[in-house]
Amino acid sequence: MNNGWIDTHAHLHWPDFSDLAGAVERARAAGVEHVVTLATDRASSLATRRLRETSDAVSIAFGIHPNEVGAATDEDWRVVAAMLREGDAVAVGETGLDFYRDRSPREKQERFFREHLALAREIGLPVVVHTRESFAACAAAIGEFPGVRGVFHCFSEGPREAEVALELGFHLSFAGNLTYGKDDVNPLREAAALAPLDRLLVETDSPFLTPVPFRGKRRNEPALVALTGRTLAAIRGVTPEEMATITTRNARAFFALAGGESNGA
Ligand SMILES: [Zn+2]
Repeated sequence: MNNGWIDTHAHLHWPDFSDLAGAVERARAAGVEHVVTLATDRASSLATRRLRETSDAVSIAFGIHPNEVGAATDEDWRVVAAMLREGDAVAVGETGLDFYRDRSPREKQERFFREHLALAREIGLPVVVHTRESFAACAAAIGEFPGVRGVFHCFSEGPREAEVALELGFHLSFAGNLTYGKDDVNPLREAAALAPLDRLLVETDSPFLTPVPFRGKRRNEPALVALTGRTLAAIRGVTPEEMATITTRNARAFFALAGGESNGA
């Protein structure tokens, strides 16, 4: 087993990834051994299911993103839920609450988020949570489903919220925004510094959130996850190789990927 990285959050169904084989190849060359790609609505769930066939280095998840909930119907959720029950997915998501873009009615976001949480708990998959200006509401909803496992993806909060997330038993996944900004007065880096090592994951959220030094210069892709991993390693005072080992072990256990230890959940 090599010591590569796992990009735990990408959106390979995005039109930007028409060169998907190339993106997977560049990821491999950059030391990324696996990618988890997440759907954001019914159509992309169907597209993502097809991506599973492209490479054994890709795992898939289905869900309806809070920004897409406004346009989604109950029938859309039934289709996505049925796909989740088929057993090909390694997680439920992307789901969550977004009160920043506020593209979908909040009440409907809250309802769809709870549908995802209930199903995740029922079928024993972790849930991948997007939160933007909605952390307290997300934490409250998660608290209604004791035993559900999950991750706050692209964790962008401070140490207080990190404590709440950890208390819920959730993982924290760090993305390219960890590489932004300065070391002093940086609540996100404080959060990254306090989480137990076995709760850390890394991701790109590609095609968005390109890490420094490519920020603003090119589209993000799984190959760049190591840049975030290196920043996280520096914050934790370990080598990049050690951080790759730690976060990859965590990701394999969390998503029950081949080569990981079962977490017994
Ligand atoms: Zn995402």
